[in-house]
Amino acid sequence: MSKNARAAVMTAPKTDLEIREYPLPYVDKGCILVKITCCTICGSDLRTWLGHREAPTPIILGHEIVGEIVELGEGVVYDSGDRPLKVGDRITWTVMDNCGKCYYCREKGLMMKCRHLRKYGHDSCVDPPHLVGGFAEYCYITPGTCVIKTPDNLTDEEVAPANCALATVVAGWEALGIQPFESVLIQGAGALGFYAAALAKHYGCRRIIVTDILDNRLEFIRAFGATDTINTGEMEDEEIVHAVYNLTGGFGVDCAMEVAGVPGIIPVGLKCLRTGGRYAVMGNAYPGSHFSYDASDILFRRLTIKGIHNYDTKHLQMGIDFLAMTHGVFPFKDIVTHRVSLDDITEGLRTAESGKAIRVAVLPFR
Ligand SMILES: [Zn+2]
Repeated sequence: MSKNARAAVMTAPKTDLEIREYPLPYVDKGCILVKITCCTICGSDLRTWLGHREAPTPIILGHEIVGEIVELGEGVVYDSGDRPLKVGDRITWTVMDNCGKCYYCREKGLMMKCRHLRKYGHDSCVDPPHLVGGFAEYCYITPGTCVIKTPDNLTDEEVAPANCALATVVAGWEALGIQPFESVLIQGAGALGFYAAALAKHYGCRRIIVTDILDNRLEFIRAFGATDTINTGEMEDEEIVHAVYNLTGGFGVDCAMEVAGVPGIIPVGLKCLRTGGRYAVMGNAYPGSHFSYDASDILFRRLTIKGIHNYDTKHLQMGIDFLAMTHGVFPFKDIVTHRVSLDDITEGLRTAESGKAIRVAVLPFR
């Protein structure tokens, strides 16, 4: 094994990532060194690179990571599900390392809002162990991270996006309390939308309505269980609401979710809810995402709005279990549409920006 690891480092937004080498760290007690086999480019990586989100630099972006254990630190014996771990096992892990002891971790059940939170692909790489992001050959996992051994029947490319996109959708699913036979509106036919549609189908939802402005994506999401797709590109808001009401017996959907990262679609999503309906904001993970809405409609129609940022460990495990159960049913393997090496990563970010790709995979040892 070489003593250094290559990493693609962002020094400023919108500039080409630089390949730098860092020494492989000594593996401390409770830590794990992983050889990264695949990391997918998440919408939030793209937003950070475009400068829509603040990030400390230099930084190794990437948090939808899967890899093989190279070295286990003292005391690391099991994963989060009490499955024994050994060198060579393939794992994925939570985007966050949380302390487990602060107000939010211990008292409020919001581990993703830990007061001492560290996040892979979100923190500066200037200090050792440096290797704390996915766009690199190796990643150093610290003790507050929940590690999950991945089932053999899933490919790296199926597992990687689960780490952020699918786990977030599972968290939103739980927050909305979606029930079998309910109708859902999914605003956005990207990776989160595909997972949401598949969950809705698996869960026995009656109508699974998806809106987007790209026909090819709306076509593709039918394979994930969408029952009705609407290209809203040329439609007025009132027409969209009318179409959704027509599909739901004149009542509106029980639940709706914004998974497009476009704040302007939230008001129409709220209007598509039935009285007593629930709404989740899941895609607008960057500041300045404003929308305006008549608060009296939220009150009179008894609407609920939930904000979902990241997830709890159990949601990642549930996502992996869901993939293992249903990967023969839904085309999860087709969510990664483009692949790049570390050297071509800036090209990969541009491809993601263009909207041509659903997920771009970075394969560091390609
Ligand atoms: Zn993400």
